[in-house]
Amino acid sequence: MKKLWIKIIFSLRKIRLAVLDVFFPISCLGCGTPDNWLCESCQRKIKRRDQQLCPVCEKNITPDGQVCFACKKKTSLTGLLVATSYQQPLISKTVHLFKYRFLAELARPLAELILQAIQTCELPLPELIIPIPLHPRRLRWRGFNQATLLTEEMADKLLPDAKLEISTDTLIRQRYTLPQMTLKDHRQRNANIQNAFVVTDAAKIKNKRILLIDDITTTGSTIFECARVLKKAGAKEIYGAVIARQEYKQK
Ligand SMILES: [Zn+2]
Ligand SMILES: [Zn+2]
Repeated sequence: MKKLWIKIIFSLRKIRLAVLDVFFPISCLGCGTPDNWLCESCQRKIKRRDQQLCPVCEKNITPDGQVCFACKKKTSLTGLLVATSYQQPLISKTVHLFKYRFLAELARPLAELILQAIQTCELPLPELIIPIPLHPRRLRWRGFNQATLLTEEMADKLLPDAKLEISTDTLIRQRYTLPQMTLKDHRQRNANIQNAFVVTDAAKIKNKRILLIDDITTTGSTIFECARVLKKAGAKEIYGAVIARQEYKQK
């Protein structure tokens, strides 16, 4: 019965997309050229981050976004790679349509940004990639986990000959939390996300180098919390990679 419902929901979604296609034909979000959500020329114009900062203090420039010496004790995360800047209107618009208008096809060009950031950095290759999990309730609402789509698009291209392992069930979100973006205060965000995640299979992450993927981060609370849980369960190193970091003025 449940399967039937899932099928019906998927069919409705497809019909909706087909209708959208007729009324809103696909065109580049940057320049309006038809047939592509982000044309090659607009993709090339997106400014990449040429410097990475320590993800904790956001002040010290560090190689590949590694946590600076002064902040090491504050987090289990080894580093956070940020591909581009959220202040670019094309990025904020694309990410918004991807997440809240459910345009899953945008995963491809957005994943490309993360991929390029990883390819141009010196970070060692991960042994396991984990997209930041959604709570099952939010997953049902959105129909897809945006971080998983980005991970799948990216991981296939990271190594030409081998496939990197992705896991979507080793780290799960056990507690339903308010969307972080609805909370303005740094402390509220930390409290909201605390103990939201759990590792289901510690053997799978033991002594491994893990790469966490998310779309956007703001205060970093979600990635820091995932890193804490993974490290506690035995992971060796945890890096993160995101499309962009939304500027957070109140810090
Ligand atoms: Zn364009
Ligand atoms: Zn720092």
